[in-house]
Amino acid sequence: MENAKRAVFFDRDGVLNEDTGYVHRWEELQWVPGARELVGRLTREGWLLFVVTNQSGVARGYYAEQDVRQLHEAMNQEFVRYGGRITEFSYCPHLPGAPVKAYDVNCSCRKPKPGMILQLLEKYSINKKKALLIGDSPRDVKAAERAGIRGYLFTSGNLESFWDTLCKRLDDFYE
Ligand SMILES: [Zn+2]
Repeated sequence: MENAKRAVFFDRDGVLNEDTGYVHRWEELQWVPGARELVGRLTREGWLLFVVTNQSGVARGYYAEQDVRQLHEAMNQEFVRYGGRITEFSYCPHLPGAPVKAYDVNCSCRKPKPGMILQLLEKYSINKKKALLIGDSPRDVKAAERAGIRGYLFTSGNLESFWDTLCKRLDDFYE
């Protein structure tokens, strides 16, 4: 069995799409420049791609899990147009003290906790040395570090250009 799959974990809001606040409708989603292109390119290069996103809007009662899943399906259909595919979207709907009681949970998946990342690493048998995360918040990077993978902060600009710069520090991924 090939067990050298390289993987990128993306935070969603602020990395793939602009973080305009509790995004949950396709019509309101604005892509970060270069995001769709990068997903296409990395898919063609054979990377496994994941999204790990906190969606406390569910716990706050702003939208439902079904909305989150539908949005992720729509995002993946768009990625296909660029030759890309997110292998799996993982989201945390929880929030301690939340108004929606079913989601008032002190879970292990809400970043900066590493639960979502650890679960995906295990499920897809990914070598931690061959995985990295790109997030727009220190809590994303913290979650990556707690999961034992590298985390990098993307704050603005073009995601594909960011990747090109990052690549120069990632020689071991391309051995
Ligand atoms: Zn959670």
